[in-house]
Amino acid sequence: MTKIDDIETFLVDLPTIRPHVLSMATMRRQTVVVVRIRCSDGAMGIGEGTTIGGLSYGDECPEGIKLAIDTYIAPILRACDPTRVAATMAQVAKAVVGNHFAKSAVETALLDAQGKRLGLPVSELLGGRHRDALPVAWTLASGNTAKDIDEAERMLALRRHNIFKLKIGKRAVPDDVAHVATIKQALGDRASVRVDVNQAWDEASASRGMAMLEDAGVDLVEQPIARGNRAALARLAARFIIPIMADESLRGPEDAFALAAQAAADVFAVKIAQSGGLQAAARVAAIADAAGIGLYGGTMLEAGIGTMASAHLFAAFPHLGWGTELFGPLLLTEEILTEPPAYGDFALRVPNKPGLGIELDEDRVAFFRRDRR
Ligand SMILES: [Mg+2]
Repeated sequence: MTKIDDIETFLVDLPTIRPHVLSMATMRRQTVVVVRIRCSDGAMGIGEGTTIGGLSYGDECPEGIKLAIDTYIAPILRACDPTRVAATMAQVAKAVVGNHFAKSAVETALLDAQGKRLGLPVSELLGGRHRDALPVAWTLASGNTAKDIDEAERMLALRRHNIFKLKIGKRAVPDDVAHVATIKQALGDRASVRVDVNQAWDEASASRGMAMLEDAGVDLVEQPIARGNRAALARLAARFIIPIMADESLRGPEDAFALAAQAAADVFAVKIAQSGGLQAAARVAAIADAAGIGLYGGTMLEAGIGTMASAHLFAAFPHLGWGTELFGPLLLTEEILTEPPAYGDFALRVPNKPGLGIELDEDRVAFFRRDRR
């Protein structure tokens, strides 16, 4: 039987190109947990676990992801056959509750190794790709209206992004909406403008805010209220034409089913880490398809590994009506892959080589490793 010889995890701290302002945190750097698995047949795979703002967005953080893998998941992996990825992840699920980000990082590494072993891209292991490039939104999160418009104009001119997501929820509703409306007015039909409230509103603020956003021509509202309040999400979804996208509310297939059953969202932001891995995220997408809910490929602002793993999965979605936001690597000042992700023509190209189709830049990784600095 093929075995796993070595499971290595380490943290890499990477600076961001500008402060990234969210309703719950301002990010100035991103910490990436890299997982590297070496198998007895020579296959090697890498994975990534990355959170937003440490523990401010969710209940896993980089230090905790590393601990969960080293202490609890690695011993299970050592007893499994890594050529049987689904069975291996089922063993992990039996012994470890939750810890979705850690599981996603490990599953990514197993799939990368498996793809290289079989000579197939990860997208083919996940059902087969429908597309080779994915539309990519950009998040305008400087918090300053004029700066955000300049940034959007630059992205349009570069033909890098024509979908813009604005992070709101920190200021009073009318101030936030005025900021968004000014940007939408400046960009007009040249771009899709969407907002992410990151749960910052209560239902009354959301009712007021969504009415105003609808008038301003905004295309989508992401997670307007608290993630657990599905009943209120359903009321808002029934009341407004502007679609609601579930993000924080969506932590795997069970949440997807509950949201679909209650008609609490029009669109799902599918994230591999939040879902609990690539296979779990594929099940989230299947539920959305069955329920007629639109799909959007979300990000936890991962660097190159997590971004490419997500890209392989999203390429295999039969429908991807709302595009993706796989811009994580572009928010970082440093590239940790030997070949940077290829962005152009408003899209990200999905590698067509075995596994994830990427390689770590060992020198850059060594330089930014927390334990080597
Ligand atoms: Mg979001």
